[in-house]
Amino acid sequence: MDEHYDVIVIGGGPGGYVAAIRCAQLGLKTACIDAQANAQGQLSLGGTCLNVGCIPSKALLDSSENFERLNGQFKKHGIHADNISIDIAKMMERKDKIVAKLTSGISQLFKANKVDTFHGRGKLLKDRVVEIYDPNGKLQNTLRSDHVILAPGSTPVKLPDIPYNHETVVDSTDALAFDHVPLRLGIIGAGVIGLELGSVWRRLGSQVVIVEALDNFLTAADQDIAREAMRHFKRQGLDIRLGATVTKVSPTDDGMLLEYCQGDQTHELNVDRVIVAVGRAPATAGLLAPECGVNLEARGFIEVDGNCRTAAEHVWAVGDAVRGPMLAHKSSEEGVAVAELIASEMVGSTKVKAHLAEFNTVPWVIYTDPEIAWVGQTEAQLTEQNIPILTGSFPFAATGRALAMEEPVGMVKMIAHRTTDRLLGVHMIGPHVSELIAECVMAMEYHASAEDLARTIHAHPTLSEAVHEAALAVANRAIHKAPNSRVR
Ligand code: FAD
Ligand code: AMP
Repeated sequence: MDEHYDVIVIGGGPGGYVAAIRCAQLGLKTACIDAQANAQGQLSLGGTCLNVGCIPSKALLDSSENFERLNGQFKKHGIHADNISIDIAKMMERKDKIVAKLTSGISQLFKANKVDTFHGRGKLLKDRVVEIYDPNGKLQNTLRSDHVILAPGSTPVKLPDIPYNHETVVDSTDALAFDHVPLRLGIIGAGVIGLELGSVWRRLGSQVVIVEALDNFLTAADQDIAREAMRHFKRQGLDIRLGATVTKVSPTDDGMLLEYCQGDQTHELNVDRVIVAVGRAPATAGLLAPECGVNLEARGFIEVDGNCRTAAEHVWAVGDAVRGPMLAHKSSEEGVAVAELIASEMVGSTKVKAHLAEFNTVPWVIYTDPEIAWVGQTEAQLTEQNIPILTGSFPFAATGRALAMEEPVGMVKMIAHRTTDRLLGVHMIGPHVSELIAECVMAMEYHASAEDLARTIHAHPTLSEAVHEAALAVANRAIHKAPNSRVR
């Protein structure tokens, strides 16, 4: 007879593996099926995030940032170094070791929590029967379960008629494993992934041109921050061309020719390599048998309600494959919440987090230099809704710590409701803002006012003083800058 579980999770990324561990913690008999393999063909848990996403990209961002600093930025500290070089193979080996350490760590956590692991591709049939197939499409196993959590994640969007070849025309996965620094690098798409990968290879020596279809830069970010970011990226030598839609990519004698339209003009760009970074799409191919009862939305995402329930009874879906931000921490939070909802149904656990579709306190981070981070709504979004606001901002250049670090760039911009003073959004660009944003996420979770942050003691000298001063600036009383907050 087929093995029976309380919960089967399909997908072992931050949505799936976290859901599986939480289910097991809550006493549920749990299995996780994942298809991802490492270079040796062995199971490599952790999904896109650990294998070909967040972690390897941050490893390369750190290596390349160190290289760039040693290669010039440290001179202002009086530190000089000669004959600086970068060993790309060694840099990649370091990245691969970090990935291996973290992915094997998930396997150990599964063992410790008694989550059964199956390596293969899961397919959901009717009544929560799940088949597992090997890479050759051969049926390996059939399992049954009271609940199923779908967490298949996403894969890079492929542009039609583009000659992908894993070498000169690549997606983000291949761009994390180049064996040398391409001299001329074209990137299609100035989203988060395009900007991060562009930064890595520019710092290592590539001439990078990023071609972006939209007329505006970083449309999801507050436009004060986006403008500041564009200024820094241009100064660094990232050539970002907006309102430019790529129409054709073709091989030439010495590389690739990228053709794009800007208005009614056609342009050509000769490069050695092209990275296509035009977004990600839900990975549902082969996941759902027609009779399983799960519906897909028009854009291919798995249809779910506010609590991640699909149309099929006791089948749930989380992460990149459902609506909402495609971020690892959003996936994990959904995984935990669904595990707790299932446990509350099966064993009466009361620890349930509600309002799953509330994304207002999900932090966003772009790990460029300077880093960009935000939580809540932008000034444009709030203005469009006619919400009365006050804004306060503070430049890192006016903090002693940023100056001591020789990184006096960027700012913190805080937006609060004009009458209640409740925080509605915090937007940052500058050193280590990926870490600084956590305080503001917490403040917004607790429905704090700008004054709450203004009355909180921040250590001196730290970068967090810019958060404190921006909160003071909302009430036009920042200490270390002239008053300039604007009332709307
Ligand atoms: P995934 O991580 O995609 O995991 C899904 C897993 O399910 C995969 O292992 C897949 O092989 C497996 N799977 C799919 N279908 C099946 C099936 N039928 N049977 C069995 N297994 C299956 N997010 C951040 O928050 N911060 C970052 O800094 C960040 N950087 C990124 C950098 C890059 C280059 C990329 C590409 C992404 C980045 N992301 C980042 C996004 C982040 O990786 C995703 O949001 C996150 O991985 C989504 O988690 P998930 O569990 O929903 O899916
Ligand atoms: P993201 O969705 O954040 O990963 O960003 C992907 C970016 O790629 C978006 O800003 C898109 O506008 C952009 N994009 C999509 N298709 C094209 C194209 N053919 N040419 C240039 N940019 C594109």
